[in-house]
Amino acid sequence: MDNRIYNFNAGPAALPLPVLKRIQEEFLNFKGSGMSITEVSHRSKWFDEVIESAVERTRRLLKLDDHYKVLFIQGGASLQFCMIPMNLSVAGKSADYINTGTWSTKAIKEAEIQGKDIKVIASSEDKHFSYIPRDLKPNPDASYLHFTSNNTIKGTQFAKFPDAGGVPLVCDMSSDILSRPFDVSPFGLIYAGAQKNIGPAGTALVIIRDDMLERVPDNIPTMLRYTTFADKNSMFNTPACFVIYTISLVLEWLENDIGGLAEMEKQNRAKAALLYEFFDKSGFFTGTAAPDSRSMMNVTFRMPSEVLEKKFVAEALSEGLGGLKGHKSVGGCRASIYNPTTLDAVKYLTEFMAAFEAKNG
Ligand SMILES: *Cc1c(COP(=O)(O)O)cnc(C)c1O
Repeated sequence: MDNRIYNFNAGPAALPLPVLKRIQEEFLNFKGSGMSITEVSHRSKWFDEVIESAVERTRRLLKLDDHYKVLFIQGGASLQFCMIPMNLSVAGKSADYINTGTWSTKAIKEAEIQGKDIKVIASSEDKHFSYIPRDLKPNPDASYLHFTSNNTIKGTQFAKFPDAGGVPLVCDMSSDILSRPFDVSPFGLIYAGAQKNIGPAGTALVIIRDDMLERVPDNIPTMLRYTTFADKNSMFNTPACFVIYTISLVLEWLENDIGGLAEMEKQNRAKAALLYEFFDKSGFFTGTAAPDSRSMMNVTFRMPSEVLEKKFVAEALSEGLGGLKGHKSVGGCRASIYNPTTLDAVKYLTEFMAAFEAKNG
């Protein structure tokens, strides 16, 4: 489409073009209401259908049974770092964490601020978080085991989720939610800031199991309690209506255009493989993640010098390839290739990289 670039931003990130077009078409008059979706009441039948569709599609895509609730909570993934220990830690039991990077570290910090008994049972900090720890020894008495399934900044991802026995898993899936099918049953809670893989910024998607809702203590403020959102279908107060609407369209696209999570995973694997196979042949571009921990979503890489990296990012942008600069805390380069990123975009990127190497290598 005219003037649109190939967008490799880490978040907010690319959305499917058919979804953006649909928003444009419906924007001034939503389903005959004579109003924009940004103007209708969140108590109206129009918005009811929207949130219902977002919830039902999430349930179908992840095959959730009746024990799970799907919630939308403002404050992003970062508020979940604080709500999780506040609501789910059990007195006399530790809250356990796996530390695989910046976001896990922040989640741990928010639990520590609350004076919770935190145990970090595994960490990859010894090697700059470039890998996913194996050999986990989960503690069978923990309140929960928290981990980050995909490390957006470091470019690593759990290929297989930890087995914590009966201890509920709690997972930050901000940057890989709905990118592949998985068994939800070991999870007590899953959360994701919407702006990476499923929509615009402004809400977190939270999937919570009913036994977790039973843990919520009475003495915490209303807006910080999961039960507040669960009891009122995420509408105790005004939700992020436009964001939830966009999420519902992205999920519709996932179901109808893509054909579900197994097909989505196939496409995501093919996209990531193009880049990693390219690195493995290149003597110029090097992936930063350990090969067995590579992310399908955020592909992080370096070049022989920072000068070349800067040149690469600038020249790529002039060729219509945007968002390739690495996170400021780690430098280097990063291509975020979430669900909406097409195989064509990644092909175009690898061709540009090969040409850049031929000229500068
Ligand atoms: C981006 C990101 C966050 C922070 O999300 P906000 O919605 O901005 O709070 C947390 N965790 C992961 C894995 C992320 O990628």
